[in-house]
Amino acid sequence: MNHLLYDAHLHLQDRRLDCVRSGLPTWYCKENVARIVVNGTQVSDWPDVLQLAEQMQQVLPSFGIHPWWIENRPEDWLNRLIGHQESIPSVIGEIGLDRWFKKDNMEDQVSVFLDQWHVANERGLPVTIHCLKAWGTLLDLIEKHPHQGPGFLLHSYSGPLEMVDAWVKLGARFSISGHFAHPRKASRREVFQRIPLDRILIETDAPDMPPPEEWVKFPLPTEPDQKPINHPGNLISIYDFAAKWLKIPQDELESIIEHNFREMFGMVM
Ligand SMILES: [Zn+2]
Repeated sequence: MNHLLYDAHLHLQDRRLDCVRSGLPTWYCKENVARIVVNGTQVSDWPDVLQLAEQMQQVLPSFGIHPWWIENRPEDWLNRLIGHQESIPSVIGEIGLDRWFKKDNMEDQVSVFLDQWHVANERGLPVTIHCLKAWGTLLDLIEKHPHQGPGFLLHSYSGPLEMVDAWVKLGARFSISGHFAHPRKASRREVFQRIPLDRILIETDAPDMPPPEEWVKFPLPTEPDQKPINHPGNLISIYDFAAKWLKIPQDELESIIEHNFREMFGMVM
């Protein structure tokens, strides 16, 4: 049986995808991709996310300020977030904490994260979270301010195995990205075996986090800095990889992901 497919996290508004964007609606229809969650990362890209949602039936818009971009936020950013959120059913994200790329502004990161977390909680919305090397802080914050919606996604989960049970109790979902197919990420498998199957989602994070070459179905020219660009169509290979990685038949995995996606994002679909 042919199930529908879902990409729980990507950035289709990103300029690096300008060359592929117009062909995607047709491709998504052909490949039975039902919904994709397109995450804004700063105030300046929210209008593009909104426009994509108006143009493409597959797009679930998500608005948020990513921890890398909090310094770019204008004074009225929170009102603008609420305005965007109220203009269309949407997710809050990508928000989060990052002590790896940015460690000097943790206090600011926490305050911007909490402001957005509260917007989601007051409305009972799903949330998408980016977290690198700040797992203890994030866990403390969410224990103190429990999630009030249908779930929050720890996208491409890189946190410790020992924290999985605590996250599950708090309502977390965890997505598998093509990044985990790199041999250096082999230890992630043990972590994901610990996660209940009803909490797992699949994501591309396109144009970021490309899978290793053997899993790239749609190669794109690299950027001037030699970084490869991840095509959203690689979603197909990430499903394929995840089924092998978790040792679940592809058909069964597709049905599990469909159920999980609808449970978390159904209220904004
Ligand atoms: Zn992302």
